[in-house]
Amino acid sequence: MDHALARPAAQQPRWPDPGAVRRARAVLEGVAPVVGAEEVDRLRAQLAAVARGSAFLLQGGDCAETFSGTTERSLAGTVATLHRMASTLSGAGRLPVVKVGRIAGQYAKPRSAAVDARGLPTYRGDIVNGAEPTAEARVPDPARMLRAYVNSKAAVTAVRALIATGAAGAPGAPAPDGEVFTSHEALLLDYERAMVRVDARVPDRPKLYGSSGHFLWIGERTRQLDGAHLAFAELLSNPVGLKLGPSTTPEQAVEYVERLDPYGEPGRLTLIARMGSAQVRDVLAPIVEKVTASGHTVVWQCDPMHGNTVQSTSGFKTRHFDRIVAETEGFFEVHRALGTHPGGLHVELTGDDVTECLGGTPRITVPDLPHRYTTACDPRLNRSQSLELAVVVAELLHAGRRGRRP
Ligand code: PEP
Ligand code: MN
Repeated sequence: MDHALARPAAQQPRWPDPGAVRRARAVLEGVAPVVGAEEVDRLRAQLAAVARGSAFLLQGGDCAETFSGTTERSLAGTVATLHRMASTLSGAGRLPVVKVGRIAGQYAKPRSAAVDARGLPTYRGDIVNGAEPTAEARVPDPARMLRAYVNSKAAVTAVRALIATGAAGAPGAPAPDGEVFTSHEALLLDYERAMVRVDARVPDRPKLYGSSGHFLWIGERTRQLDGAHLAFAELLSNPVGLKLGPSTTPEQAVEYVERLDPYGEPGRLTLIARMGSAQVRDVLAPIVEKVTASGHTVVWQCDPMHGNTVQSTSGFKTRHFDRIVAETEGFFEVHRALGTHPGGLHVELTGDDVTECLGGTPRITVPDLPHRYTTACDPRLNRSQSLELAVVVAELLHAGRRGRRP
C-alpha cells in the first residue's frame, strides 16, 4: 500500500504520539475482520443488479455514530426504519431493495474548519477525539481506534441478532431480504489501512478487502484525484462509493470512474450525488451523460442531505424537508430525461423522534429544533420524516417504471 501512503491525505488528525498510533495499528492488523469477504461479495453482486436497473439501493443512518449513543435500541430503531422504508420503496416487492446502514463503523468525520466556535480543535468523530467542549477531550487519541473496532464488531452482531429474531421489523431469520449491510466513510486512513485483509479464497488470485465494513465511501472533502483516499479505494475489492458535490466536472467524473472501476464491473462503484436542490438538475445531467458515454455502469445514488445544510436563525445546523424532497425530485428528473436508472437514496436518519430537520408532516419549526436535537454532527430525518421521504421516492420510482418499455 506504499503508493497510497505517499499521496497527500486530507482530513487526518495530528496524533500527538506516533508510537501510540503504531501500537494501535499493530493491534488492528491482527484482529478478526468486522465483516467477512463473502458478505462483501454478496453486497457487490446485489449492487450490480442496482447498477443494471433491476434493484434499488437504500442507505441510511447517523451522520456520526458515537460510542455511547450507539446502543442496541438505537440500532434497532435505525434498522426498523430502513426496513419500513424499504418495504415502501419496493412497491409490494416489485423491485428488490438493497439495504445498507450507515452503521457499525461510521465514527470518523471530515470537518470544514480546524477549530470550532469556542476556538477548540474540532470534533472529528469518536474514533479520533471526544465531542465534549474541552481541550483535553479534543486531543486525538489513537486508542479510540480500538474502541471503534470493538463497537463496530458488537454492532454487527447486534444487528444480525435483531434481524434474525425479527425484532427490528425484519421479515425474520430465513428471509435473505432482511439483510442490512454496513457502511461508513473511509476517512481515517490509519484505521482503514490497518483493517485491510487479504482474501485468499482463490489462492492464485488473492484480493484485498477493507474488513471494517461492507461498503466504504470517499467523502466530498477527500476525493482529490491525486490524494491518498482515492489511491486507497483503488486497492480494495469492496463496492465503493464516491460523494460528488456541485463543483464536480463531467471530465473529473469520468476520471473517477476510470480509476475506481477500471475493469468495468457493475456494482463496483456508486456515485453519490449531493449537489443541493438548486443545482442538481444543471450539474448532474452532464455528469451522468458523460459517465454513461464512457461505457461504465455505475450505481447512481442521490444524497439529498449534504447539499442542503443551512444554519437556522437560532444557530442550529438544519435541513428543510422540502429541499430534501426537491433535490430528490431533481435527481429523478435528470435520470428520467437521460434514460438512466435513479438507483439509490442515501440519507441521514434515525429511528428516534428527533427535531433536527425542519418541516415534513411533524411540521418541525425553528423553535422546535432544541427540543430533541441529539445528533453528534449533521441533522437527521426522524422516523416519520424518513417514512414520508420513502413514500415520495416510491412514487417517483414507480411512476417512472410504469413508463418503461419491458
Ligand atoms: C457525510 O456523509 O456525513 C458527509 C460528510 O458527506 P459529504 O462528504 O458528502 O459532505
Ligand atoms: Mn453528514
